[in-house]
Amino acid sequence: MADYDVVIIGAGVGGLTTGSILAKRGKKVLVLEQSGQVGGCCSTYDVNGYKYDIGASVVEMIPIIERAFTELGTTFEKEVDLIQCDPIYSVIFPDNTRMTIPMSVEGAADAIGKISAEDRVGFLEYARTFESFIQAHGLDFFHTPMNTMGDFLGAFKKIPALSKFNKYFFMTYNDVLNKFFKDPKVKQSLAYQAFYCGHSPEQAVGLFAIIPYMEHKGIYYPRGGMIKIPQALQRLGEKSGMQVMLNADVVKVTVDGHHQATGVILKDGQQISARVVVSNINARKLYLDLVGEEHLSPIVRSGIKSYQLSKSTPYICLGVDYDPPLDAHHTLVTRDVDDINTFWWEKYRKGALPTPQEQFGLICCPTKTDPSLAPSGHHIVALDFQGPSKLAGQSWDDVRQEFSESLVDYLSERIIPGLKDHVKDMTISSPLDFERRLHNPGGAFYCFQQDLTAQTVFRPASKSKSIKGLYLAGASTHPGGGVPTVMASGVIAANQISGSQLS
Ligand SMILES: Cc1cc2nc3c(=O)[nH]c(=O)nc-3n(C[C@H](O)[C@H](O)[C@H](O)COP(=O)(O)OP(=O)(O)OC[C@H]3O[C@@H](n4cnc5c(N)ncnc54)[C@H](O)[C@@H]3O)c2cc1C
Repeated sequence: MADYDVVIIGAGVGGLTTGSILAKRGKKVLVLEQSGQVGGCCSTYDVNGYKYDIGASVVEMIPIIERAFTELGTTFEKEVDLIQCDPIYSVIFPDNTRMTIPMSVEGAADAIGKISAEDRVGFLEYARTFESFIQAHGLDFFHTPMNTMGDFLGAFKKIPALSKFNKYFFMTYNDVLNKFFKDPKVKQSLAYQAFYCGHSPEQAVGLFAIIPYMEHKGIYYPRGGMIKIPQALQRLGEKSGMQVMLNADVVKVTVDGHHQATGVILKDGQQISARVVVSNINARKLYLDLVGEEHLSPIVRSGIKSYQLSKSTPYICLGVDYDPPLDAHHTLVTRDVDDINTFWWEKYRKGALPTPQEQFGLICCPTKTDPSLAPSGHHIVALDFQGPSKLAGQSWDDVRQEFSESLVDYLSERIIPGLKDHVKDMTISSPLDFERRLHNPGGAFYCFQQDLTAQTVFRPASKSKSIKGLYLAGASTHPGGGVPTVMASGVIAANQISGSQLS
C-alpha cells in the first residue's frame, strides 16, 4: 500500500493545478517543494516592505486559467482579487518618444494611427485575423494532450480551424509583423512580445504573434502579488486534503524493475511511496538526474539531452521612494527589430553582456496597479532586460552588481528621470540566482525553447513513455511556459491520471 496516490515534485502553478484537481477528485495527494514557499516563477517575496514578484508579472488568456478553477468547483475571480491593467502597456522608443496602448482595440489602433495611418488599418486587420482564430478554435488546443502523433493529428481533426491557420505555424513572428505593418516604430512596439514565448521575433513561431492581440482581451494583476494565484490553488487543494510540504528537495524518483515509478526520495533521505509521480520541474533534470539515465533507452536519453534550454533573464527589482514617470504596469523599452534579432545571435548565444546602450526590455511597475505592494508613497520598478544565461569567461556572481548599477544609471539618464536617486532597495536576480532559487537549470524561464521543434508532440510528453506512472505538468510539457498554459498542462495531467491508473 503506497503512502500516497499521487506525489508531486514542485509547487509551481503546474504542480498545484494537478494536485488540487486530483485532491478534489478524492485522491490522496502530497506536493513537495524544495523552497520555502509555493508558486515557483509565479510567486512573490518580501524585502524591507517591498513585495517583489519572482518572475511572472501579469496574467492574460483568462479563459484558460478559468478552466482549472472550474474543475475545482469555483471561479478565478472568486478566488483571486484580480485588478485589470489598462493601459495594457506603454512603449518608449529609442528616440525617447512614447506611445501608450489602451486595452480597447480601437484605442490601440488610434495610438498606432498617430505614427502611421497605413498601420492603423494594418493593426485592425491583424486584430481581426487573430480574433477569428480565437473564435474558431476556442482555445481547446491548450487543453488537448499532445503525447503522440495521433493526438497531434486528432487535434487538427477536432479543431478544423487549426488547419486554416496552420500557415502561422510555418511563418515566423517577424513574418507576421511584416505582413501587417510597414512602419519600423509600429513593428518595434509589437516585436518585444515575442520574448514572452522566449524567442526573438526572427525565431518565434508566427502563431505567437497572437500575444499582443491577446493582451487586448485583458491583462490582470492579482492584488497582493502573483503568489496569490498559487496560494489560491494551494488553499483549494488543502480544502480537499492535499498536503504541501515545503523545504522538501526531491533528489530521486524511485523506479522498479518494471519501469514503474514507485515514489521519491528527499535530500534528507526520507522515502515516500506513491502510485503516481508527477513532475513539475525541468524535464531534462527530471529524467537525467532524478529518474537516472540507467532507466532510459539510448534514444530517450539523447532525445531529452537535445532539448535546448529556453532564454533566461537578469531580473532587477528596485524599491523606490518616488512615483516614477512611467505610464503603465508594463513599459517596453524597444530597439529596432533588426537590432533585437541580431542581439540573439551576436550577444545572447555568444554569452556576451549587452552594454546599457544596446539594451531593450520590459519595465514593470506593479505598484501603479496595486500600491499595497510597497510602503506608502513608494513604488516597485522591476527591470527585465537582456543578459545571457551563461556568460563567456566570467560568472554572473562577478558582474551582477556592476551590470545592474550601469543599467539603472542609463535608464535614469535616458528614460526614467530620477530613478537612480530614489533607489532604497535593489534586489538582483541573475540567471544564476534564479537557477539556485528554483533549481531551474540555466534559470531558463520556460524550461525549453519553444520553437517548432519543441512544441506540441515534440515537447516531452505529459504521460511519460519511458516510465509508467510518471506524468509531467509545467512548462516542460505541452502547451509550454506561461502561467495560463502551465495551468492547462496541470489540467491535462490531472485528467490523464484520473483516466488511467487512478480511475
Ligand atoms: C522573469 C519571468 C517573467 C515571466 N513573466 C510571465 C508573465 O508575466 N505572465 C505569465 O503568464 N508567465 C510569465 N512567466 C512564465 C511563468 O511564470 C512560468 O512559465 C510558470 O510560472 C512556470 O510554472 P511551472 O509550474 O511550470 O514551474 P515553476 O514555476 O518553475 O515551479 C517549479 C517548482 O518546483 C520546485 N522544484 C524544483 N526542483 C525541485 C525538486 N527537486 N524538489 C522539489 N521541488 C522542486 C521549484 O522550487 C518551483 O517552485 C515568466 C517567467 C519568468 C521567469
